[in-house]
Order: sequence, then C-alpha cells, then structure tokens
Amino acid sequence: MSEHVVIVGAGHAAGQAVASLRQEGFTGEITMIGNEPYLPYQRPPLSKKFLAGEIGIDRVYFKPPEFYEKEGVNVKLGTRVTEIDRKAKSLRTDKGETLSYTKLILATGSRVRELNLPGFDLDGVFYLRTVDDVDAIRAYFNKGGKCVIVGGGYIGLEVAAVAAKHGIDVTVLEMAPMVMARVVDPIVSRFYERVHKEEGVKIVTGAAVSGFEGKDGKLAKVTCGDGTAHEADFAVVGVGIQPNVELAVECGLGVENGITVDELCRTSDPDIFAIGDCTNHPNPLLGERLRLESVHNALEQGKTAAATICGKEKPYAQIPWFWSDQYDLKLQITGLSAGYDEAVVRGNPDEGRSFAVFYLKEGRLIAVDAVNRAPEFMMSKQLIAKQARIPADKLRDESINMKEMAAYSG
Ligand code: FAD
Repeated sequence: MSEHVVIVGAGHAAGQAVASLRQEGFTGEITMIGNEPYLPYQRPPLSKKFLAGEIGIDRVYFKPPEFYEKEGVNVKLGTRVTEIDRKAKSLRTDKGETLSYTKLILATGSRVRELNLPGFDLDGVFYLRTVDDVDAIRAYFNKGGKCVIVGGGYIGLEVAAVAAKHGIDVTVLEMAPMVMARVVDPIVSRFYERVHKEEGVKIVTGAAVSGFEGKDGKLAKVTCGDGTAHEADFAVVGVGIQPNVELAVECGLGVENGITVDELCRTSDPDIFAIGDCTNHPNPLLGERLRLESVHNALEQGKTAAATICGKEKPYAQIPWFWSDQYDLKLQITGLSAGYDEAVVRGNPDEGRSFAVFYLKEGRLIAVDAVNRAPEFMMSKQLIAKQARIPADKLRDESINMKEMAAYSG
C-alpha cells in the first residue's frame, strides 16, 4: 500500500504538519479533514485584530488556499471524523466515507469549556473559538451597547480591550480574586486591572456568575451568586478550554489530560501521532509533562510529527512561549512560572505601560512576563533554556543592558 498520511483536524497544528511533511520530503498522499468550513487559520487574531475588524479572513489563513493545491493535499472541510479503527488502519467520517491510512495524525485541538448555567442558550451569549463565533459577536458591536465578559483570562481581557475601543460599555466578571489568576503573578494582574480601568472597563473580581436572564429569548442581564446583576446586550464567555480527546479515547489510545505522546509526538500506537492543543507531552527542558494551549506548541509539534513520519528524529524540546495583545500592550511570556520562589520586577508596573517580571527558582531563571519589553523577552528565552543563574539585583537594574545578561549560565 502506498503511503497515506491522514490528518484529523484542520487547525494551526494540522497546517504546519502538512507544510513540514512536504519540506521533509514526504511524497505520499496527504489528506486533511476538518469539521470547520475553513482552511487552517490562526486563532490568535480572532480576539485581537480580526475581532476589531482591522483584518479580514484572508489575513488569518495559515497558508493561502493555493498552497494545499500546490502541495497536492486532499482537503475535506466541514467533515467530522467519527471513528478510528486501529486494526484496519482506517477511519470513518460523518459523511459516511471510510478512509485508510498508513500514518494518522490527530490534530483535533480543543474546544471551549461551556457554562451550562440557566439562560446559557439566550441570544447574545457567546463563546469565542472560531471565525464564525467572531462574526456572530461582531453583529453586536454597537457603540454605546453593553457587554459583559465572563472570565478575566487572556481571551476575556482581549475581547474587553477590543470592545472598549469600539465605544462599548464593558464589564468583566472574574470569579478569582484577580484577573489572569491562572497564568500570571499578582504584580502583572494588578497592572492589567489598572490599565483596563484607565480604558473605561469595569472589572469585578470574586464574581461567581450564576446565570443569564433575558426577555423574548434575548439576553438582558448576567446574574451573580451574590444577587448582583449586570445589564448586557451581549456576553462573551471565556472560562477555559478542554482538549478534544474523544476520538483517541474511543479507539483506546493513552489519554491523560490530553492525548499522551512521547517527544516524537507518537501516541501509544506507533502509527498514530498527536499534535497541538490536544496533546499531553514531555518537555525535556522543563523535566515535566505538559498540555499547552499555544500556537508555538502547535507549530513545533507539527514539525516534530512530520519529521518522525519521514524517518528523521527531531524531538520536541521547546521552552514554551505565548503572547497577548490588549490595547497598546504586548504581553510576551516565556517559560513556566509555577513554583517560583522570587519575582523580580524590572521597570515600574504602577506607572506607564512597560515592565518585566522575572521568575526565579533557587536562583535560576524559569520564566518572564514582559509587557512592551521585547529585549527582556528575547534574552529570557535563551537564559531559561540554559537554566541560567542570575542575581536578582542585576535583572532589576535597568542600567544593565539585557544583552549583557547573556554572560550568565547555569
Ligand atoms: P485548533 O486550532 O483547535 O484546531 C483543531 C481543529 O480540529 C478545529 O478546527 C476542530 O474543530 C477540528 N476537529 C476537532 N475534532 C475533529 C474531528 N473529529 N474531525 C474533524 N475535525 C476536528 N495562542 C497563542 O500562542 N497566542 C495567542 O495570542 C493566542 N490567542 C488565542 C485567541 C483565541 C480567541 C483562541 C481561541 C486561541 C488563542 N490561542 C493563542 C491558542 C491557539 O490558537 C491554539 O493553541 C492553537 O489554535 C492550537 O492549534 P491546534 O491546531 O492544536 O488546535
């Protein structure tokens, strides 16, 4: 049988896997099956420039449509894979098709975590994961309208920033005592609360949303457990995601908080790979297993799986990084700060809009949150990879150029 790689999912990771398979010299057949009606596109702009209407869909595609034709890829969109038969090395789709594979790549990504609270199905209650979600939300973008954001994580705050810039009255309801609680230090969280307030956004922390109330099937307010209510023409819920692992579970692959893969993106079946948001993978640089929700991870795992399939071992070994754009702020995060014992601040988060927080563990740099500080972010990527030990006073001292930090090692 001739080689046939089938990719389930048509997101960022899938797009990269297609490109890398051809770059690595794969000449066999490639089929990519995605349940959305679009070719692979970049999700980050969905809560940023695309939501703001500054760019159209042509600018969010991962590769131009001609790319797939040029690379001879069979693309099946609007098609869901419903079943994998590992013994027969075949899969079934919701269109009733059966396809055989020699290698299978699961790039099924993740989906939003839904809030099944009373009134969740009223018109005007949205989630944000897809191009179609943005199109629906944008129909409510009217100057002077009222928007409630449920969840003060990255996506909620990015939507809040875009909506506020459109003259919409925005309230963010966050259950935790601070915004972005899951991912940043209180110093960074307080800074973002300050900026959002300066931009006219109301932030309510410790707010446990209890339901959505409406009139004639349309959202009118969002209620909280303490009896408070917030008027809303529309609400955007951003309370996290969950990996799409059902196909993997049903065909008996190892799954534990994501589809379990090794450093070559192989699942427990040597002919099946998994990449992107749906995986739980080892990170040799950090010495732990992770499930990440980031473009960088999706791209790098796409490259690794393609190389493995082509018989070239390029183990995944990356320091994670991520970014968030809100107003004129570019937050760049690299490393994982969990477990830090010292947070060192460079710059002043209480004034202005530029600073960095370095996270140290036993004297070694493990992560940085950099706001409008590209040099701090870039240098930290290198320093974290070599587990550099840097004295806190040097990191804090703005008279020392970041380039000079390169001299420090583990
Ligand atoms: P996905 O992009 O989720 O793609 C998987 C695709 O597979 C989906 O289309 C899904 O519907 C499809 N699929 C699933 N099951 C099946 C099936 N059975 N059959 C067919 N198709 C199937 N990351 C950053 O690094 N920086 C950012 O600033 C950032 N901003 C973001 C903003 C938003 C609004 C969102 C939603 C995400 C953001 N992310 C960001 C996260 C980033 O977009 C994801 O980590 C990335 O898209 C993961 O790519 P993926 O290919 O693994 O999964």
